[in-house]
Amino acid sequence: MSKLAIPKFVLIYLLKRTGFWQKGKDLMEAVEEYASYYDLPLGDGGLALERHLSLPRFCGHEDKMEARATSRWNPAIADKLKWGYTGSLPGISDMDFKQFIQEACDEWSKHFAWGATYTNDSSKVNIIITVGPIDNQGGTLGWSELPAGMSFEGKIKQKYDSAERWNKGIRLLSVLEHELGHALGLSHLEEGALMQPFYSESIQSPQPPDIREGLKLYGPPKNKPKDEDQPTPDPKPIPADMQSVIIEFKGYGLTAKIVK
Ligand SMILES: [Zn+2]
Repeated sequence: MSKLAIPKFVLIYLLKRTGFWQKGKDLMEAVEEYASYYDLPLGDGGLALERHLSLPRFCGHEDKMEARATSRWNPAIADKLKWGYTGSLPGISDMDFKQFIQEACDEWSKHFAWGATYTNDSSKVNIIITVGPIDNQGGTLGWSELPAGMSFEGKIKQKYDSAERWNKGIRLLSVLEHELGHALGLSHLEEGALMQPFYSESIQSPQPPDIREGLKLYGPPKNKPKDEDQPTPDPKPIPADMQSVIIEFKGYGLTAKIVK
């Protein structure tokens, strides 16, 4: 540990937050795992490590959220889901809010056979988007449930924090896209993905890793010719009685960026 200039208690706090260290685990082992996971040098006294560890987390979940590939909507209905919403976000008109939600859904629909459109019929809604106080500005921005099992047909819920100054620091569309990524069944992915654990101003649409994982779940959009290189969805059924998972979406700063 002597080659790192970061105080031990800071290192423990930061590594614990990311899920790389738990009580009883060797601290240096956790450091090396983290550095290896994010391809960070350790020969600079830990400067790059500390800078990276201090970045805001995109969600309240650990960095290495287990790659699930066990959550998806029933492919028979996955590209014709319905979303509805209640409440409004401060500073965002209802019309803009609806438009942003649809735009975020459409960002995903471009790449694989998943899609959702608005309904005001509560009996038909699959994704319920709600607004309300979660915490103070800059803390938790929202959360989303994931579909349970591999053939989900029920309802899931999301919530967005009414305490945020949306679009004055945190880009609403990016947050919607990330949360809808969870809503369609994606877990957290590697750095550079829209589903990475960090909020990043510069990532504003699904990236290759996001698309790769989505294709595994749903295959290409049905109105497009099937690309032979694209993986087909896993047909294996998974019991539908799995619990939905709630993912918290956190941004600790207003304009967080990945520093490379
Ligand atoms: Zn997330």
